[in-house]
Amino acid sequence: MENKETAPVSQPAAPTAASAARPMGAPPMHRESAGPRRPGGRRFAPRRKVCRLCAEHIDLVDYKQAQIIKTFCTDTGKILSRRITGACAKHQRQIMRAVKINRNLSLMSYNG
Ligand SMILES: [Zn+2]
Repeated sequence: MENKETAPVSQPAAPTAASAARPMGAPPMHRESAGPRRPGGRRFAPRRKVCRLCAEHIDLVDYKQAQIIKTFCTDTGKILSRRITGACAKHQRQIMRAVKINRNLSLMSYNG
């Protein structure tokens, strides 16, 4: 019994000494690795955005389809970015061109 008591006392000393002695040149621990994530980060799981026009197999955005084009604009008449709408580069270019044609033809307004 005495042997078992002496053994645990000597064991905890070794790991604490090793963890306390960090090398001087070691890089500082990052916050993510140090502890749990702080609130205010990403609240929702990332969801893949799909181009709505590609999903509907619309090859060419027609400027005469103002109702479709208006869904890619804000209420104040600005063209929404790809980051928001999820449109692909090809369709974003077509939307941009169609909106500018429609503004010129006053199918859409410049300022809402
Ligand atoms: Zn697309």
